Amino acid sequence: MDAAMERKKKSPNRLLADDGEGSVPLDNSTVALSQATMDQLDIFAGDLVLLRGKPRRRETVCYAFPDAHCPEGRVRLNRVVRGNLRVRLADAVTVRRLDGGVPNAAAVQVAPFEDSVEGIAGDPFDAYLRPYFGGELRRPVCKGDRFVVHGNMHAVEFKVVATDPAAAAGCVLVAPDTAIYCDGDEPVKREDEERLDGPGYDDVGGVRKQLAQIRELVELPLRHPKLFQTLGVKPPKGILLYGPPGTGKTLLARAIASESGSHFVAVNGPEIMSKMAGESEANLRKVFQDAERFAPSIIFMDEIDAIAPNRDKTHGEVERRVVSQLLTLMDGLRPRAQVVVIGATNRPNSLDPALRRFGRFDRELDIGVPDEDGRLEILRIHSKDMPLSEDVQLERVAKDTHGFVGADVAALCSEAAFQLIREKMDVIDVEDDTIDVDVLNSLRVSNDHLKHAMEV
Ligand code: ADP
Repeated sequence: MDAAMERKKKSPNRLLADDGEGSVPLDNSTVALSQATMDQLDIFAGDLVLLRGKPRRRETVCYAFPDAHCPEGRVRLNRVVRGNLRVRLADAVTVRRLDGGVPNAAAVQVAPFEDSVEGIAGDPFDAYLRPYFGGELRRPVCKGDRFVVHGNMHAVEFKVVATDPAAAAGCVLVAPDTAIYCDGDEPVKREDEERLDGPGYDDVGGVRKQLAQIRELVELPLRHPKLFQTLGVKPPKGILLYGPPGTGKTLLARAIASESGSHFVAVNGPEIMSKMAGESEANLRKVFQDAERFAPSIIFMDEIDAIAPNRDKTHGEVERRVVSQLLTLMDGLRPRAQVVVIGATNRPNSLDPALRRFGRFDRELDIGVPDEDGRLEILRIHSKDMPLSEDVQLERVAKDTHGFVGADVAALCSEAAFQLIREKMDVIDVEDDTIDVDVLNSLRVSNDHLKHAMEV
């Protein structure tokens, strides 16, 4: 038996953190495992499990459910749960059924993060906490846990400040009779916590296939360069995304960085080129240096055709020098550097062919204009925090927006919200710096608002 198999047998509770498309929608209080893993660990659907993240030994408790799409040896967690465990994708997480059960809480005390309630005033209880804790699920929470609640045109991130009883790991169940205290007026400051509301995979719509491909190409090499070294294969250094502006190329690259916990460096082609001659190359070198220093990193080069146009067709001395500098930098990236360069362009054919050779940007993905299903996914994403009135049919809107790219759909949604706000100017006090949650709570985007937005 090889070493890996043996280890797996010895510690079957040790799984790898995954996100991934699955059949079970993940919530802040649920995780998913394959049926085989559930059987092996003696976990039944709906059991409470104790999760512990490997690198930082943080613990939290969730309900476990089987998921036909979850690979064996993996545990699917959403970003909030991964944040609580301080794990990134592909980190180890131990999963154990909680035999002793979790006590019902007499009380829990939570507080919103300061930066997530900027600009809103009032008590977030009715608008956020009651719907979050009032559902069918008796949510397990541990002291120190964070959770994000979407709604009312805004997502708010909270922290569990204290629990009563202060059980072993501070883990309790919030039952219907649990008193929930919220320091709405005293938001907490972030300490070492990363924001959980950066873009994630679930914020990018209509690119399911491309997302799966790019994750396979980027995530593992960023997290486990050794694996590739052992196998003697070279992870890709560069990936080229091509497609019209506004289709989500930047968003995709950002989502990969935030989901994999990588440092993100963005470079804009025309901006770099517009610098004084000579400085462009120095700037590029600095970008690569920083990326290596803060690795794992993703370097995103937008409009890369401006940096590296076809050398045969350009006569500019600067372009020639910058292209060769970029080639040198990419060739110089060590296989273990944990740096991936993602280039974006609308014109792949105008790119210097030397860049598209093996070992440089050797993978290309087409991020096209979304179809009707894609538009529907994007509409759902951009209306996630928007209360919609009953007459709104997003399917209809997706049908009527042929040719819209992601950025158009996003603009449509915010225009509809603006239209609603214009109508409600009488109840919103513009002199005030903050908006009351009760006012936010009463807002509904209607079909007319969306129609109006489409005509703009
Ligand atoms: P690109 O880099 O292809 O020009 P961006 O990623 O900058 O496009 O898109 C601009 C904005 O449009 C994004 O921040 C997002 O709000 C929205 N958007 C674009 N494409 C998508 C998509 N596929 N899914 C969700 N939102 C999108």
